[in-house]
Amino acid sequence: MLDVKWIRAHQAEVEYAARHKGIEVSIPELLELDEARRSRLAEIEGLRQSRNALTEEIGMLLKQGNQPEAARKKQAVKDIHLRLNDLEAAYRLTDQAYTAAMLRVPNPVSPDTPAGQSDKDNIELYRAGTLPDFAFEPKDHVALGNLHRMIDIPRGVKTAGPRQYYLTGAGVLLHRAVQQLALDLLTEKGFMPVDVPLMARGDALLNTGYFPLGEDQTFKLAEEDKWLVGTSEVPLVSYYSNEIVDLAEPVKMAAVSLCFRSEVGSAGRDVHGLYRVHQFAKVEQVVICENSLEKSDELLREITENAEELMRLLELPYRVVAVCCGDMGQKTYKQVDIETWMPSRNAYGETHSSSNLLDFQARRSNIRYRNAEGRLTYAYTLNNTAVASPRILIPLLENHQREDGSIRIPEALRKYMNGIEEIRAV
Ligand code: AMP
Repeated sequence: MLDVKWIRAHQAEVEYAARHKGIEVSIPELLELDEARRSRLAEIEGLRQSRNALTEEIGMLLKQGNQPEAARKKQAVKDIHLRLNDLEAAYRLTDQAYTAAMLRVPNPVSPDTPAGQSDKDNIELYRAGTLPDFAFEPKDHVALGNLHRMIDIPRGVKTAGPRQYYLTGAGVLLHRAVQQLALDLLTEKGFMPVDVPLMARGDALLNTGYFPLGEDQTFKLAEEDKWLVGTSEVPLVSYYSNEIVDLAEPVKMAAVSLCFRSEVGSAGRDVHGLYRVHQFAKVEQVVICENSLEKSDELLREITENAEELMRLLELPYRVVAVCCGDMGQKTYKQVDIETWMPSRNAYGETHSSSNLLDFQARRSNIRYRNAEGRLTYAYTLNNTAVASPRILIPLLENHQREDGSIRIPEALRKYMNGIEEIRAV
């Protein structure tokens, strides 16, 4: 949510973001609705004041025994009452239309965000790590998963439908090891670990910017206003909703959670293996900080670097890309993604997304702090993946495979895997 005064002063920036992010919203209409609702409200308030004044006068007239004049004024109160009923109904309709339009307005994007329509227009910033040079025909993660009895997709589909899977044996250990490594790393860096509710009210999704536009991406619990979260960012940000937060230091939180996504609109995309599934686990970083572009930009680099540190510990080659406007969501001001080398795709695939949302979520969630002058101000929020599994298992298995089919376990993961150095075929 943006401030409507800000939208009025920055109409072109907002329209640019809406056009590139593919969001249908008419800013001139929104501004007209805002004018209309404000003028109706002013009229309503004026009439209410007249009614109150008349009611007082009637009391006086009755005390003075001036019945005829009191009756005349009573008629005037009735007329105002009828007029107010009409005006209040009209105001409600205008306000509903205004709110619906406001909820579609996108955050503008940072000046250094590339223009573009899709992930193909994202711009590579740098690469890190060395690509594997296999002297044999490498297997993909599904074949390796079968070989080591770690991944079972047919049984997942049998039980739960498409885009579902079982992890078994070393698959489970690896899946849990990457999450624990990520959580330990973040805890060491001062992030507060949080265990979050996986079901949230519609309000929490609206206030964090996932609704109304992303409603079809979210699984709803039948008959209840409860939704399965697609990311712990929703409960993490909502933790402070309607609160005044001490931001002398940024608030840093990390959650390990399951994430559920309907993946509507992805039919036919990434149907092989574990890349795009309905249920996965993610360790998420959420930061809440003061309203400062400079500070939030610094924090965006910091949370991205945390994820990169993890990638170095996992010994995986990756690149960092500046995400273009057309590949960004409604709420995002600036985004960089980490893409990890996936040999079976012969390409880098997205594994992490790092975003600065400015005060978009904080306005909707009503998260404020007192600034240096003591004024209540909306905070800024940021988030980034630390690790998402099973997607990260794709590069882990594929990059660390050896000719005999065994898989080398990176040093940093071994203590979470009962000390084993490799996964051997069973
Ligand atoms: P997001 O919260 O959308 O920024 O996604 C963060 C990360 O979660 C992505 O970079 C992926 O690693 C992972 N992810 C997102 N959606 C899926 C999915 N449907 N299946 C598996 N992993 C996913």
